[in-house]
Amino acid sequence: MSLSDMYRCCSQARERRPRYASQPPTKEFDMSYVFTPPPAVSLPVRGQDDRFPVHRVYCVGRNYAEHAIEMGHDPDKEPPFFFQKNPDNLIVPDLKFPYPPQSNDVHHEIEMVVALKKGGTDIPVEDALDCVYGYAVSLDMTRRDLQGQMKKLGRPWEIGKAFEMSAPCGEIVPASDIGHPENGAVWLKVNGEMRQEGDLNQMLWKVPEMISYLSGLFELVPGDIIMSGTPAGVGPVVRGDVMHGHVEGVGDLIVNVV
Ligand code: MN
Repeated sequence: MSLSDMYRCCSQARERRPRYASQPPTKEFDMSYVFTPPPAVSLPVRGQDDRFPVHRVYCVGRNYAEHAIEMGHDPDKEPPFFFQKNPDNLIVPDLKFPYPPQSNDVHHEIEMVVALKKGGTDIPVEDALDCVYGYAVSLDMTRRDLQGQMKKLGRPWEIGKAFEMSAPCGEIVPASDIGHPENGAVWLKVNGEMRQEGDLNQMLWKVPEMISYLSGLFELVPGDIIMSGTPAGVGPVVRGDVMHGHVEGVGDLIVNVV
């Protein structure tokens, strides 16, 4: 059974499953757990009551040339690459980002999110946009000091990237309403001052290419999310800062650092 078959199977089962784990199991789907499972992670969808259920969160590294250069890399020599955050990192109650422990250098990275409604493996570039449900504005918050140490040691980036509430994300905006944005301003202001400025058309790997490439490495499924990389101008925030991110055609995200 492939992952997508399994996922389909699970989602059919889920429809019959009790809405909350605290409810008694039904005859149709008799499953119990050794402890109450955490709630499924989902994001609001603009103009709809139904929410977008999140599966995985993939992040593209160095996808804007100017940002690759500011991080000390040559964008022509190094193809973009991927890392992951955790689905629950997307949920930031009241959009208050808690400054995380063990770091004195937490950076903002404004990014457009691509949310998938369809998956597969080895998806051709020309079919990739059929997989997209919608887009959102997000922040790839980064403990830059810890990420830097891990880079130096050749170790994974999780402690720099995948910490609690490290991926504040706005509502998903359906592509059926806005289409597939290819151009448009991407910026981030901190306390009203412009910090990051770019354009979606500066992405080294475009949305169809990143979906196609990822699907060669992982089996993508509905609910997967891709954070598409950040333009130049990343920098530190401190408690009390207000971050205002914008992706033209998608929307705005305002997050307070607390
Ligand atoms: Mn990033």
